[in-house]
Amino acid sequence: MKEFIETIEKLSKKIQRQINLMEVCGTHTVSIFRHGIRSLIPSNIKLLSGPGCPVCVTPIQDIDRMLYIAKQPNVILTTFGDMMRVPGSDGSLYKAKAEGADVRMVYSPLDALKIAQENKDKKIVFFAVGFETTSPLIAATVAVAEDKKIDNFYIYSVHKLVPPALEVLVNTKELKLDGFILPGHVSTIIGSKPYEFIVSKYKKACVITGFDADDILQAITMLLKQILEDDPRIEIQYKDAVKPEGNPKAIEFINMYFEPFDSNWRGIGVIPKSGLKLKKEYSHRDAEKVFDIPPINSKEPKGCQCGAVLRGVKLPPECPLFGKICTPQNPVGACMVSSEGSCAAYYKYGGN
Ligand code: SF4
Repeated sequence: MKEFIETIEKLSKKIQRQINLMEVCGTHTVSIFRHGIRSLIPSNIKLLSGPGCPVCVTPIQDIDRMLYIAKQPNVILTTFGDMMRVPGSDGSLYKAKAEGADVRMVYSPLDALKIAQENKDKKIVFFAVGFETTSPLIAATVAVAEDKKIDNFYIYSVHKLVPPALEVLVNTKELKLDGFILPGHVSTIIGSKPYEFIVSKYKKACVITGFDADDILQAITMLLKQILEDDPRIEIQYKDAVKPEGNPKAIEFINMYFEPFDSNWRGIGVIPKSGLKLKKEYSHRDAEKVFDIPPINSKEPKGCQCGAVLRGVKLPPECPLFGKICTPQNPVGACMVSSEGSCAAYYKYGGN
């Protein structure tokens, strides 16, 4: 680590300007905070946190729609734990559960499928959230449901795709990005090829990296060298896990059951082809189609700056509610809910 830090210092002196690097993975965000990486590198190297927390980027409209479905008769709504705490316009799924709705936390969509098998008289909806890392598992669950003819199992997919969001970030003028610390987990599935446009079209430095402090520091040295040499390219630091072609089987599985659609991201808006929805052949499992959800007038929590935090243009303490009204025990916005959210990480580890 010492060697990497010394190299970063030398390279940053040679570059002689502010360098803006963005990590777009919530696990990287937490790792950078936990290891105090910002305090280890020169002040002209700015590390910005992007929209890498799937819970955080799920817009409030989808939370409200889940609240609506959860309150319908004979419905069991299942989802991962963090999603239950994200505030909607009128409380969270936890609140709905406390008020009598059957909302259950699961660790895997296969748990939700088991609930469907055990409750044939009910409709079981799985609120599916995540990036490319989790979508193969959701696809596999749909495959099992089809195979075993478990007809009372439905998916509400808010799954997101990382590369289209990168294109929005690279075009965000306030950010002036020089390069990306690209996600290790997502890249194990999609490989490095889907990021190639960042280099060919935008000439930005890119390194796919792992999650330990030395992985991230090494990635920063690699990025600085690319910038100094004016040789942007995609390098894989996380070689043990990531191959350029990714995991073709997992990609095939995703493509078998899902297709991209224009998806809404909290704080960013609709990004073309940035979400995954079930293909037409599986629309009988699409909760959006099965439930007649009325238009809902969703309202973001007053004062919450999640949108700006997710775009990397504001730091959590710049939100007036940070640490005062909004804490991990009493989250006002989504970024304070998940441990991968920027506000939660900043609250826990401070500004290091
Ligand atoms: Fe939203 Fe809370 Fe973060 Fe402010 S501190 S941006 S209210 S999550």
